Amino acid sequence: MDESNNIILVTGGNRGIGLETVKLLSANLGNTVVSTFNSTEPKDDVFNSANVVALKCDVTDGNQLDSLFANVKENFGQILNVVCCAGITKDQLILRHKDEDFKKVIDSNLNSAYMTVRRAIPAMIKSRFGRIVFVSSVVGFMGSPGQVSYSASKSAMLGMARSIAREVSNRNITANVIAPGAIDTDMLRSAGEKRIDDMKSLIPLGRIGQPAEVAEVISFLVSSKGSYVNGALISVDGGLSMGY
Ligand code: NDP
Repeated sequence: MDESNNIILVTGGNRGIGLETVKLLSANLGNTVVSTFNSTEPKDDVFNSANVVALKCDVTDGNQLDSLFANVKENFGQILNVVCCAGITKDQLILRHKDEDFKKVIDSNLNSAYMTVRRAIPAMIKSRFGRIVFVSSVVGFMGSPGQVSYSASKSAMLGMARSIAREVSNRNITANVIAPGAIDTDMLRSAGEKRIDDMKSLIPLGRIGQPAEVAEVISFLVSSKGSYVNGALISVDGGLSMGY
């Protein structure tokens, strides 16, 4: 099938890693790219491009996701590529972590990714084509003090991706997970300078990563170049996680 003739959905494409992904995918591939935003209106020039669309959607809300999928199908085409990038942190040591914060993180990072992909799967199966990329984190696999909820939400993405891959790969649908390390975005900056410096000292490449360096890997997985990568966990972290 003509892979450029279907829609790429990037959740959380209004800023950070998601924004760089939207920019790269819309420049490199012929597809229309639909980006969601929730609390922050997208400002980047890429959203003036003919093949880029920004739609408001809180990805923790199944009704809003239903409306998003119906809207995209009616006005643009089938979503056959999904990049689940939306995510939050609510960091706290377990001793002080609130139950509602744990649930909020799981809802925002994991349940949202499940709910998004679940809505995309029927069209993928029918089209016998699909690309799914979950944006996880090294923290999901290395652990990190103060990040119990975040790491739980991110490690679960791997089991989910591999189960999806085992269920539907025979329809030419791939599901992969990327695990970025410390990447220069609002999320990382919120950790504070001291924590960022501590992280930097643990990264063999000796520097923080750029969102575009993560977007390149996502773009590869969505493009035809990544067609034989399936059920994989790919670190994009300057070597931070070597050894797990
Ligand atoms: P940012 O904080 O810059 O962006 C977070 C994005 O998630 C925003 O687009 C935000 O939309 C969106 N989002 C959050 N909650 C919702 C929601 N309920 N509905 C819709 N969108 C939502 O983060 P990054 O770019 O750094 O992170 C992107 C992904 O990469 C995340 O999943 C993160 O866990 C992961 N990651 C980041 C790393 C880093 O060092 N930066 C390292 C490893 C993984 P809005 O602005 O509208 O609220």
